[in-house]
Amino acid sequence: MSDQKTLYGKITFTMIKPGERNQENIGPILTKITENGFRIEAMKLVKLRTKQAEVFYSHLSDKPFYNDLVKYMTSGPVLAMILEKENAVSDFRVLIGDTDPTKAKEGTIRNLYAESLQKNAIHGSDSDENAALEAGFFFSTSERYNKNGECFLKDTWVV
Ligand code: UDP
Repeated sequence: MSDQKTLYGKITFTMIKPGERNQENIGPILTKITENGFRIEAMKLVKLRTKQAEVFYSHLSDKPFYNDLVKYMTSGPVLAMILEKENAVSDFRVLIGDTDPTKAKEGTIRNLYAESLQKNAIHGSDSDENAALEAGFFFSTSERYNKNGECFLKDTWVV
């Protein structure tokens, strides 16, 4: 894998979710992310189409909250990012806190900025495999190079 110059295992995918409150908090949320040692390697503001949101959350399609979640996630633009750090996936899950903001530890992003269980401010990949898939879902190959000219992800991981 080394000849692929991949950073697989050292990246995570995140998006700041839609909504006026999240828009207002973009600055503080980005500061929190970079202050905690994450380097922003790719970033863009995009509005998901319904089909894209359905695919992104397809693993939750049997949940009662799925349709509402898709509606919410397509209600406005999301700020999508690829972040680089050692242990990026697990460290970022710690930084964002529990899915349910009432259970999220003090100082975590969801504790500070979530409006509700659904509008919980931010997404973070839950595994290296999903980080690669999700980053590939949002960013084309040419958008996936870091400061050293290394490609984060191979094309084969694009969904
Ligand atoms: N969600 C919801 N109701 C629930 C559980 C989750 O609306 O009862 C939403 C919430 O926005 C969450 C997303 O669905 O972030 C994905 O859920 P998951 O269990 O994958 O949590 P996450 O990995 O985002 O912490």
